[in-house]
Amino acid sequence: MGKDEGKTARTVRPKGVRSPKVRAAQKLDVGVDAAPPDVRPLAKTGRGRSRSMSREARRQTEEAREAFIRSRFMGCLLGGAVGDALGAPVEFMRRTEILERFGPGGITAYAPAYGRVGAITDDTQMTLFTAEGLIRTWVRRRNKGIASVEAMTARAYVRWYKTQGKAQHPRYGDREETGWLFQQEALHAQRGPGETCLSAIRHMTVMGDPAQNDSKGCGGVMRIAPVGLVMGQGGASSTETFALGAKLAALTHGHPTGSLAAGVLAVIIAEIVRDKTLPEALVIARACLRKHAHHEETEQALAQAQALAASDLAPPAAIARLGQGWVAEEALAIAVYCALTAPSFIDGVIHAVNHDGDSDSTGAITGNILGAIHGQAVIPASFLSPLELREVIAEIASDLCAFREWNIGESDDVGGRSNPALSERVWQKYPGF
Ligand SMILES: [Mg+2]
Repeated sequence: MGKDEGKTARTVRPKGVRSPKVRAAQKLDVGVDAAPPDVRPLAKTGRGRSRSMSREARRQTEEAREAFIRSRFMGCLLGGAVGDALGAPVEFMRRTEILERFGPGGITAYAPAYGRVGAITDDTQMTLFTAEGLIRTWVRRRNKGIASVEAMTARAYVRWYKTQGKAQHPRYGDREETGWLFQQEALHAQRGPGETCLSAIRHMTVMGDPAQNDSKGCGGVMRIAPVGLVMGQGGASSTETFALGAKLAALTHGHPTGSLAAGVLAVIIAEIVRDKTLPEALVIARACLRKHAHHEETEQALAQAQALAASDLAPPAAIARLGQGWVAEEALAIAVYCALTAPSFIDGVIHAVNHDGDSDSTGAITGNILGAIHGQAVIPASFLSPLELREVIAEIASDLCAFREWNIGESDDVGGRSNPALSERVWQKYPGF
């Protein structure tokens, strides 16, 4: 499917109010209420808006709000990719080596990695496949009436696996080589893929089952931001959002911390989409976290990040106390610290990559959070223009924001009509299997 057709898909808006039956059919597995804004209004930006506000003024307010939500989606995914690309050249360098090579300020602009400037890594690749899994869950639900979000996302990860020079998955074959995202040739590049992810996907026997390993690497949390965007927009509860983030991370990471950290990030992003501040989002996310067994080390890492953010300690020293980010709770804590303390988007991702550890992952998560908070406009053009796959990332962010408004599938009973031509185009772009 061509790019233009993707654009056609996003321009479609729903007509009329959807019935409860349709609203039920629009749920993803873990309670994503997908009702469009005309049925379940998104959180209001203008608290206490005037009763005398004209219909036209309200319409304009609502349009501005929808535009900002879209900007949060774009900012989150593009911002994550920018942090990933900034950190890519220094992922395996110690801070002293980074300063030696790039000067006392560390790395502050893209440097060549993987043979180009602005190269993204596995963090962004897998984030895109998470987004694709969520969209294809929806497409299947609308066409077939039922779909497991864990199974559909697992299949998306098998597609990522097949982009990594792996000729064939032991159990899942050509059917996975479908859809628009897989066909993006630039995604078929090995960018330091995590061995835990590769191994867990290779050993998947039942799509959607949790991984049978004990890994708490950051490979689960680094890819989970799309869950927060979708759940936040759809009005899911924080409990549901946490559960879905954790389940999708558990597809590859079997240690509780490997998945709980992802649940936390999903809730943080979801609450930001609903206009909460980062400190407010952290209160909600940490309350969700504490309800789960084995939450202690993730909770302790977040508490330390927030305490350091409130201290006078300089960022390099504070980040060093939080660890190196190779494991999930450290990557999350470093990103939370950087997002809390950064005076700007770009300062945040610069702090997040100039340390001893997993610079691209901490840069990616920090970019996800700050991009969601401030929207796409805060990302400097000098970082966006050279960014690898920028148009693909922007297109899937746009689709992720819009997909629940696509009037597709046989289960759409809005006046007994859906749009067959659009349904076909969407099925080609995001097949429901
Ligand atoms: Mg990476």
